[in-house]
Amino acid sequence: MSSITLKSVEKWFGTAQVIKGVDLEIAEGEFVIFVGPSGCGKSTLLRMIAGLEETSRGQILIGDRDATSEPPNKRGLAMVFQSYALYPHMSVRDNVGFPLKSAGLPKAEIEAKVNEAAEVLKLDSYLDRRPKDLSGGQRQRVAIGRSIVRDPTAFLFDEPLSNLDAALRVEMRYEIAKLHQTLKSTMIYVTHDQIEAMTLADRIVVLEFGKIAQVGTPRELYERPANLFVAQFIGSPR
Ligand code: ADP
Ligand code: MG
Repeated sequence: MSSITLKSVEKWFGTAQVIKGVDLEIAEGEFVIFVGPSGCGKSTLLRMIAGLEETSRGQILIGDRDATSEPPNKRGLAMVFQSYALYPHMSVRDNVGFPLKSAGLPKAEIEAKVNEAAEVLKLDSYLDRRPKDLSGGQRQRVAIGRSIVRDPTAFLFDEPLSNLDAALRVEMRYEIAKLHQTLKSTMIYVTHDQIEAMTLADRIVVLEFGKIAQVGTPRELYERPANLFVAQFIGSPR
């Protein structure tokens, strides 16, 4: 069954069309990466899936449900932001549990969920610290932890590693791959980094000026790029 389906999706900002008829079916549990140069529409498309941008035309299905006009909090998706957006005055434990507390869950249930997320993400040793006492990588983990506790249908990531230094980026890339193996959730991940795309993705969607230039496995794109744009972007010799 498909997890998320885009049907002839378009986005206009005033008279500028930035997403131009995108069709895509994402399978349950699939790790899909949107790549392309800056300004090609990756974030806009992801934000439309999240419900943070209105869809001008076309449809977005989540499972069999038409979610095109649903507000973000009804979609059951988790958006992991690159800016972490943690509450500075709260401990890691309270940051991770916050969405459940807001939803009115009982204390014991919140605690169990937080502990589960802490184990998956190895947050145990700093659950009582404040965000200011954490490294960039640790903060990123806490942000992911906060989205895990709601058992989302899918995780949406917008360049989650772009603020990190090179060594940490490699480490977190590995962590995200492990997270996908552990949770087996659908993940949609935006990056302009070819290495991230080639190493993490089940399938890569290459965007060029708001259109899909090609969709395929990393290997397919590398071995049979549909055009020069894809070849140059993926870095295969064509
Ligand atoms: P990417 O994430 O691939 O770098 P974006 O999705 O952020 O690209 O942007 C795609 C295009 O849409 C760009 O030309 C950008 O300037 C434009 N755009 C994005 N958000 C807005 C907005 N709120 N209003 C007007 N234009 C926007
Ligand atoms: Mg972007």
